[in-house]
Parts: sequence; C-alpha cells; structure tokens
Amino acid sequence: MHIKTESIPWIIIGSYFLFGSVWILLSDTILYHFSSDFLANKQIGLYKGWFFILLTCLFLYFLLKHLLYKNEVMENQLLESEERYRRLVESSPYAICLLENDEITYTNRTGLQMVGVDSIQDLYVNRQSLIANSEDTERFKGLLSKIHAQEDPSSKTIEYQLLRSNNEIIDVESTLIPIMFNHKATTIIQTRDITERKKAVKELWEAKQLIQAIISASPIATLALDMESNIRLWNPAAEKIFGWKSEEVIGKKSPIVPVEEKDITIPEIIEYGHIVNKEVKRMRKDGTIVYTALFTAPIQDENGQINGIMAAFMDITDKKKTEDALLKTEKLSAVGQLAASVAHEIRNPLTSVKGFIQLLSSDNDFADKTPFLSIMLSEIDRMDSIIKDLLVLAKPQAEHFTFFNVNTLLSYVMQLLSTQASLYNISFITDFTEHHESLYGEENQLKQVFINLIKNAMEAMPDGGVLRLKTIVKDNSINVIIIDEGVGIPEHKLKTLGEPFYTTKEEGTGLGLLSSFKIIENHQGKIDFTSTVGIGTTVTVCFPIERKT
Ligand code: ADP
Ligand code: MG
Repeated sequence: MHIKTESIPWIIIGSYFLFGSVWILLSDTILYHFSSDFLANKQIGLYKGWFFILLTCLFLYFLLKHLLYKNEVMENQLLESEERYRRLVESSPYAICLLENDEITYTNRTGLQMVGVDSIQDLYVNRQSLIANSEDTERFKGLLSKIHAQEDPSSKTIEYQLLRSNNEIIDVESTLIPIMFNHKATTIIQTRDITERKKAVKELWEAKQLIQAIISASPIATLALDMESNIRLWNPAAEKIFGWKSEEVIGKKSPIVPVEEKDITIPEIIEYGHIVNKEVKRMRKDGTIVYTALFTAPIQDENGQINGIMAAFMDITDKKKTEDALLKTEKLSAVGQLAASVAHEIRNPLTSVKGFIQLLSSDNDFADKTPFLSIMLSEIDRMDSIIKDLLVLAKPQAEHFTFFNVNTLLSYVMQLLSTQASLYNISFITDFTEHHESLYGEENQLKQVFINLIKNAMEAMPDGGVLRLKTIVKDNSINVIIIDEGVGIPEHKLKTLGEPFYTTKEEGTGLGLLSSFKIIENHQGKIDFTSTVGIGTTVTVCFPIERKT
C-alpha cells in the first residue's frame, strides 16, 4: 500500500491519540476494577503516567530515527541523480542553456566556450545580443513565441549567426524546447556550431560549380552513362559534335553508335578499366560519321561501387583528314620521282621516232602506208601528252608566272575542245563574272588543268548533255565551277580522286587529276568535288586573287 507523504503526520498523530486514549481507558478500567484504594490508585496512576511517557518517548525516538534515515537516503538519491544530469548537461557537445523571461539563467561549459566567455555573467559584456544580425533576432523571437503558444507547443530548430566575444561570427543551429519550470514558461536551447558543416557544403557546392563549368566549357564531348547505358550527362561540346541537344538524349540510350559499329559495353569498359585514346567511329544526328578518340573513366558511388561511366570523345576528323592528305602527298612525291626519271628517258627516243615517221610520211615510196603512219603519229602524240602530264609531277619546270584573265583562258579551252564536244553532242553554257580580276600564275599549266577537268566532264557524258562553266569572284578569290550532267562519282570514290593511276576509263591514264591537283597546289589554290551518281558532278577550283602592285 502506498501512503502519501502529506498524510503521514495525520496518521502518526491519529495513532498516538488512539493509542493514548485506549491506554488511559483500558489501564484506568483495570485499575479501578481490582482496587478501590484511592491513594494506592493515585500512586499507581503516577507510575502508569511515567510508563506511558517512557513508552511514547521510545516510540517517538524510533519513529524519528526511521524518518531521518529515510530522508537521508532520499537526499542522497536526489543528489546522485542531480549530479548525473549535471554531468550529462555539462559534458554535452551541444551548448545547452535555459532561457527564462528573455534572460539566460543557466548555460553549460560548451555554451560558455561557444560564446568565448568564462562565466554566465560575461555573456552580455560588450554586446546587446548573442545573435549577430537583427533579422535573425526577429526570427528567433518569432519562433520563441510560437513554441510557447498554446496551439503548437512543440520544439523547433533554427539556423542563425552567433556573435562570439571576440566579435567572430559563427553559424549555429539551435533547437528550442518549451518547458514549465517553477510555474514559469522556460526554454531549453540546445545549440551546435555548424560553421564547418556550412563550410563543407559551400566547398562542395563550389567544387560542383567548378566541375560543371569545366565540363560545359570543354571542347571535348563529355557524357556520363549509368549501368544501363542511359545518358546522365551530355555537355555542350557533345551537342556540337554529335548534333543532339541534351534534352533529346538525357535518360535515353546513347544514339551515337553507328549501326555497323559494335558498341563497347559498360561491362567491357569496367573490365578494361580506363580506355585511353581509342579511335572509334561515331555518328552525328544527320547520319554522317565522325572520327573520335575515346577516353573513359568509371564513376563510383559512396561505397566505391562502380555505378556509371564517364566517356569523353575528341573529334579527330580533321586529324584523320590531315593524315590521309599526308599519305596522298607521300604517294604523290614517290610517283613524282618515278615520273621524272621515266619521262626523261622516254621523251628523247620518242622525239627521234616521231621525226623519222614524219620523214617516212613525206616519202612517196611509203604513200600506200600513209594511214598506218598517221596512226603511229597520233599514238606518239598520245604518248607525248602522257609524258607531259608526268613531267608536271616531276619537279619544277621553268615556271613563268603572269597575270591573265581567267574568262579568256576558259574561252580558249572551250574553243580547243569544241570539236570533241559537238562530236559527243555536248553544249557549253557559260556564266562568267563581270569582274576583271586577273589570275596570277603559269598560264600554260592552268590551261592544262582546265583541259583535264573539262575533258573529264565531257567524258562523263557519253550521251551528251549540258556542261556549265561559271566564274565567280568572292572573298578575295576567283572560283571556277564546272558542272556536268554526267555519270557522277560514288561518294566513297571521291577520296580516291587524284591518286596516281586511278581511272575508270579503258583508255584513261589516271594521271589527269593527279597533275591538275599538283598544279593547283602550286598556285595556292583549292579543288573540291561534289557529285551525285546519275545526276552529275560539280568541280570547284578556287584561286586566291593576287593584286598587281
Ligand atoms: P582519266 O581521265 O585518265 O581516267 P583522271 O585523273 O583525269 O584520269 O580522272 C580519274 C578518274 O576520275 C576518271 O577515270 C573518272 O572515273 C573520275 N572522274 C574525274 N572527273 C569526273 C567527272 N567529271 N565525272 C565523273 N567521273 C570523273
Ligand atoms: Mg582525265
């Protein structure tokens, strides 16, 4: 049975009263029952009184002793528990303080250290408030009244800046807990320093911004893929090189692997580790192929598990082109050297053979052989023209550069080829520039170039057609454009043009374009072919304009 503390005095007094009354009544009744001697009874009554006092003294003694002991035990327990809580609060890494009536009445050691003072009395030395700025003060006050409001008396957390005693400002986070203490509304404030956390978050954010800026500004197409090959990142360079906008590809499978190429799978990449500078073909949005150098690196999650791949593609199409051009130049110079030796060896004997045949044709004894002799002569002329082509390749001839009008030159070439043109049912249409800009160069060599190009165009139109010749002056250059309606050139063959001995004709030499390219190059010019099979070919030759000074 549990007895309430406040009823104990009543119980003791009640028991004492009850026991005393019973004692008096009972002892007196017994006494008067056995004796009627008044004096003797008075004497015994005195002893009985003394005895009662003795008894109650003993009773009081043990009762008080017991109560005092109990009190001491309780006091000890209270002290112990208070000490435990005090230590808990004192050793807390949080600053813990009590706020009563806008005044801090208690703070633990961490709280003092946080502010940078030695005692609670110094908290407000040199400053009005511990909160660094007025907006934070207003927010703090607002929150205080809110947590003590009847409708929502729960604890709340607030971030603000705290002013330390050395005027340093730190970022802190406080949890305000409303309690009733001595019938007064009091707040426990638990505060921790979050400056480091804020700094780390800021540094992380800055690092992220930096990486984002680097990836955005990088000229290298950079993408991140997850383990299912879905695109997670697609930078502006990737947009530029491959043509897809980032919003078109994010979250989808990579569209850049051409159908004929085998894609490198994520497990393969993980197995190889890093891929460095691997040449791969990739596809643009318009379907064209782009040559790239691939670099990869794995992306890890916080447990060190690979959860994606970073892939960087460097556009090396230009490099590839340069390499191809270099290869061609090497071939060219080899052919040039060969041509030089062969051409010289053949030209001289050929000249004498030609002379003798001419001699024979004028001899009447050989009159019946005239058709054969003229065939021999024309064949020798053909051989001579091949040698002329070869000699262009064979190192510098005496070059004689002059200024001349390109329209006049083309008209001359057209006249030269007019017989052949009408034979094949080909008509020329010209569209010449009105400008009177001059070309500066070796006129005979350039004549040769245009003869080669126009002949090729005519040879591409065995059933006749229209051959357009245009000259345009633009951006400090003269462009000559030759458009035919011939058989055209398949795209994969365009690269082959100008390679020694590449010909598709039975009678062809495969040297015409080679020597033309060489001449154009010597004139700092450029040549470009566009062609559609069955529709025709457009050849554009472009020379820089050199002005007479
Ligand atoms: P050849 O005329 O002796 O064949 P070229 O060097 O002049 O040698 O030309 C090489 C090849 O380029 C030709 O055989 C032909 O297949 C192709 N070619 C050049 N120009 C044209 C053109 N205008 N149309 C179609 N094919 C062309
Ligand atoms: Mg030719």
